[in-house]
Amino acid sequence: MTSQSTTHDGADETTGSTEPESALETARRQLRHAADHLDIDDQIVTRLKHPKKVHEVAVPIERDDGSVEVFTGYRAQHDSVRGPHKGGLRYHPEVTRDECVGLGMWMTWKCAVMDLPFGGAKGGIAVNPKELSEGETERLTRRFTQELRNAIGPKQDIPAPDMGTDSQTMAWLMDAYSMQEGETVPGVVTGKPPVVGGSEGRAEAPGRSVAIVTELVCEYYDRPLDDTTIAVQGYGSVGANAARLLDGWGATVVAISDVNGAMYDPDGIDTASVPSHEEEPEAVTTYAETTISNEELLTLDVDVVIPAALGNVITEANANRIAADIVVEGSNGPTTSTADAILAEREIPVVPDILANAGGVTVSYFEWLQDINRRSWSLERVNDELETEMRAAWSAVRREFERRDVTWRDAAYIVALSRVAEAHDARGLWP
Ligand code: NAD
Repeated sequence: MTSQSTTHDGADETTGSTEPESALETARRQLRHAADHLDIDDQIVTRLKHPKKVHEVAVPIERDDGSVEVFTGYRAQHDSVRGPHKGGLRYHPEVTRDECVGLGMWMTWKCAVMDLPFGGAKGGIAVNPKELSEGETERLTRRFTQELRNAIGPKQDIPAPDMGTDSQTMAWLMDAYSMQEGETVPGVVTGKPPVVGGSEGRAEAPGRSVAIVTELVCEYYDRPLDDTTIAVQGYGSVGANAARLLDGWGATVVAISDVNGAMYDPDGIDTASVPSHEEEPEAVTTYAETTISNEELLTLDVDVVIPAALGNVITEANANRIAADIVVEGSNGPTTSTADAILAEREIPVVPDILANAGGVTVSYFEWLQDINRRSWSLERVNDELETEMRAAWSAVRREFERRDVTWRDAAYIVALSRVAEAHDARGLWP
């Protein structure tokens, strides 16, 4: 699972500052906001503001030129009341302790809204992976695994790919962990290649969940998919998979984009004929007869707009010009908090990222189950069970949306927090 920092442009409600919010500030603000709607013991909310544990480790490696360099790695484990920690490991120069804590907290809500038996975590190494050779990346990953060995494991904390890491990184991690344990332990990570215990359908899952949730929200607002126009920003793993599924289910995808711009066809794009980012990087505009900018795509007068490229693309600057009737968040944190308030005021429903793209962590859960049981599932079974989980999560969020007259985002956080808080309440405080 890849994800990126959710930074928001809203003023910090405690300081009045207009500085961009950090991932940790965003996570804490969302916690307070959801808690305001619920009758939760204050001591539980106070506990949830803090991570359970944060590991900070030095990761020395020998560079290809024989020199030794030391990087800093983190693993922030937020909460485990519902089960082992789960969340990505990113290799990025801007990885910090606080960012890991904030994103780990956010994973707690994402797992809880999907009702997965996991709590949140996030980790990574402050390093630019583009400056490492393959051998250096492998040595870095193996040493990082060794430093975290007592903190991770199938029953404790299960990492996954994130920015700058991929299925190969997870295979090295699993191998390093297994070598030290003296047995093959595939369940220590998810997002592995299927040949070493990865799941079918894992890579496509976030895009598939975005498509399923788009269909459900259209159904909710009485829009049959074959009468629905859709614009998708980003044609990578999330965007292309979502666009192709929705196209196949009858929707008219009128715009898709990559970093260079967007393809636009009001009659509908044949999404299968345009290569995704993985198939041919940045090919969208080269296949287009009519191109528009990414900014124009976001403000097209369509039924549904799906930002699926980056965070912070719907902002104070363009929220008043969003002409779509519905926004479905494919990427992580595409809507800043100020823009979110503007869209709420304009009564444009925004289906939040923690629900829409949660197919990734959900199929990671399936992968973990397959690894523990040493039995792989067919692609058909993975997709069927993903659909069942998405529909169940949607129904739970819809119930809160209708009952409390809140936004879809608030409803999702309310579902998540109430599940985590109830589990804390039932288990009590030890000792
Ligand atoms: P990807 O690298 O496969 O594709 C990204 C796409 O966005 C490419 O088409 C690229 O050209 C385009 N893009 C890059 N910069 C852009 C810009 N400035 N304007 C418009 N388009 C731009 O990435 P992905 O895996 O599809 O991830 C997309 C988003 O979804 C990220 O925010 C990621 O964190 C989030 N996400 C990914 C997963 C996953 O498992 N892949 C899961 C959950 C969330």
